Amino acid sequence: MISYMHEPFTDFSRKENRKAFEEALQMIENDFGKDYPLVIGGEKIMTDEKIISINPANKKEIVGRVSKADRELAEKAMKSALTAFETWRKVNSEVRAQILFKAAAIIRRRKHEFSALLVKEAGKPWNEADADTAEGIDFLEYYGRQMLELKDGKKVESRPGEHNRYEYIPLGVGVIISPWNFAFAIMAGTTVAALVTGNTVLLKPASTTPVIAAKFVEVMEKAGLPKGVLNYIPGSGSEIGDYLVDHPKTRFISFTGSRDVGTRIYERAAIVNKEQFWLKRVIAEMGGKDTIVVDSGADLELAAQSIVRSAFGFSGQKCSACSRAIIVEDVYEEVLNRTIELTKALTIGDPANPNNFMGPVNDQQAFDKIMRYIEIGKQEGRLMIGGEGDDTRGYFIKPTVIADLDPEARIMQEEIFGPVVAFSKAKDFSKALEIANNTEYGLTGAVISNNRMHLEQAREDFHVGNLYLNRGCTGAIVGYQPFGGFNMSGTDSKAGGPDYLLLHMQAKTISEML
Ligand code: NAP
Ligand code: MG
Repeated sequence: MISYMHEPFTDFSRKENRKAFEEALQMIENDFGKDYPLVIGGEKIMTDEKIISINPANKKEIVGRVSKADRELAEKAMKSALTAFETWRKVNSEVRAQILFKAAAIIRRRKHEFSALLVKEAGKPWNEADADTAEGIDFLEYYGRQMLELKDGKKVESRPGEHNRYEYIPLGVGVIISPWNFAFAIMAGTTVAALVTGNTVLLKPASTTPVIAAKFVEVMEKAGLPKGVLNYIPGSGSEIGDYLVDHPKTRFISFTGSRDVGTRIYERAAIVNKEQFWLKRVIAEMGGKDTIVVDSGADLELAAQSIVRSAFGFSGQKCSACSRAIIVEDVYEEVLNRTIELTKALTIGDPANPNNFMGPVNDQQAFDKIMRYIEIGKQEGRLMIGGEGDDTRGYFIKPTVIADLDPEARIMQEEIFGPVVAFSKAKDFSKALEIANNTEYGLTGAVISNNRMHLEQAREDFHVGNLYLNRGCTGAIVGYQPFGGFNMSGTDSKAGGPDYLLLHMQAKTISEML
C-alpha cells in the first residue's frame, strides 16, 4: 500500500523560499482593489453592491471588492445548481476525482500566491498561511482518493440467483457556508467533498474573506468543473443565510462557524417547508473551548511551549486553539511562569513581515469582543501579561495570559476566539480532567503527562473529538488526524477522515434476480 504524505510546509529559513514569498506578496498587492464577480451557472456577474475585503493588519488596504448576492441571485444560483445536478450526478466518480487532483496540482504550482493572499486578506503570518494552503491541497487530494475507494459502493452478500449491490449516490444541491479562519482550507475542503460525491453546490464564503474563495472558484473552473456545478454567491450571512437554509430545494447544508449560527441553521433545517420532500441533512462544525491539561511530573518545558503555540498561533483564532490551561497544583506556578516568559518573547505586528509571530485579529467585531472578554477576565482572575489592544491601523491584540481562574468563570467557559489563555489550578489529575470536561464544547484537548495510567484515563474520559497526548492541541493534518468535535462543537463530521464523504451521499441497495 502506498502511504499518503501530506503537502509539506514551506521552509522559510531558506532564502529562495523567502524571496518567492516576497514576490507573491507583491503580486497580491498589485491586485489590490480589484473587482470580483459572482459565478452562477458559469456566468460571471458583477453587482453594483460589493463586499469590501480589507487587510485586517492595515484597514486602509482594500484587498478586493467582491460582488454580492441577494435573494434573487441566490435563487438564480439554486436553479442553475438544480439543473447541473441532473448531469453532474451521472459523471463518473473517477472523472470527478480527477478534477480535484487537477485543481490540487494548479494550486500547488501557485501555492505562494494563495498563501500571500491569506496573509493580506486573513491576517495570517507566513507559516500559518502556508499551512492553510497546504491543508486545502490535502483536502482536494484526500477526498479525490476517498471517492475512488467509495465509487463502487461496499460489498454486500449475494446468493445463487440473486445479485445484490450497495452503492452510494449523491444527495442534491448543497449549501456550503464557510468561516474566515481557515479561509482557504475549510472553504475548499467542504466544497470539494460535496462536489466529488456528485452534488452541486452553492458556496457562501465568510464575508471577511471572499477573495480567496473567488480565486479557488476560478481554479475549479480551470480544472474542468462544468458550469453550474459550483456556484459562487458571497453575501451577508444574515441577509441570505436563512433564505439558503430554508429553501425547499436545499438538500443539505455544510456549515463551519460559530455555535450560535450553527445552532440556528440546525433548527431551521429541521423544518419541512412547502414543496420540500426530504429531510435536510446538516453537517455543522462549530466552536470550541479547548484545553491543555498539565500533570505533575510532566515535561514542563513541553507544556509551556505547547500552551503558547496552541494559544497564540494565528492570534488564537483557530477552533482548536488552546484557551484554557488546567494545571495540577504542584506544577502550576512553574508552568505559568514559563508560559509568561515565552509569551514575552513573542513579536506582534504586520504578518507580511515574517519576523512577526502574530498578526491581527479578524475585524472590528472580533477586536471588540476579545477586548470585552479581556476586561471580564481582569475581574475574574489575575492579568499576568498582555491585555492591551490597538485598533488604529489594524486589529492588534497582545497575547494575554490570565491566571487563577475559577473553573466556572466566564472566560473559562465561553469561546473568546482571540489570543487569550486562562489558567486554572486543579488539586490532582482527575480533578483537572473534570474541569477540562466542564464546558458545553468538546472539540480538541491535550494532556501533557508522563503517567501512563493518566494518559489512559484521558483517552477514556477526556470528551473531545480530537485528543492529543504530549503535544499541543492545534495543527490537525488531513488524513492523519480527522477533525471534528463533540457536544456543542458540532456534528463530529471528522473532516479529512475516512467517514467524511459518506455524509454527502445516500446508500442505495439494488437487488437483482438473475
Ligand atoms: P460565524 O460568524 O458563525 O460565520 C460562519 C459563516 O456563517 C460565515 O460565512 C457567515 O457569513 C455565515 N453566517 C452568519 N450568519 C448566518 C446565518 N444567519 N445563516 C447562515 N449563515 C450565516 O463564524 P466565524 O466568525 O466566521 O468563524 C469562527 C467560528 O467558527 C468559531 O466559533 C470557531 O470555533 C468556528 N470554527 C469551527 C471549526 C470546526 O471545525 N469545528 C473550524 C473553524 C472555525 P458572514 O461572514 O457573512 O457573517
Ligand atoms: Mg463572523
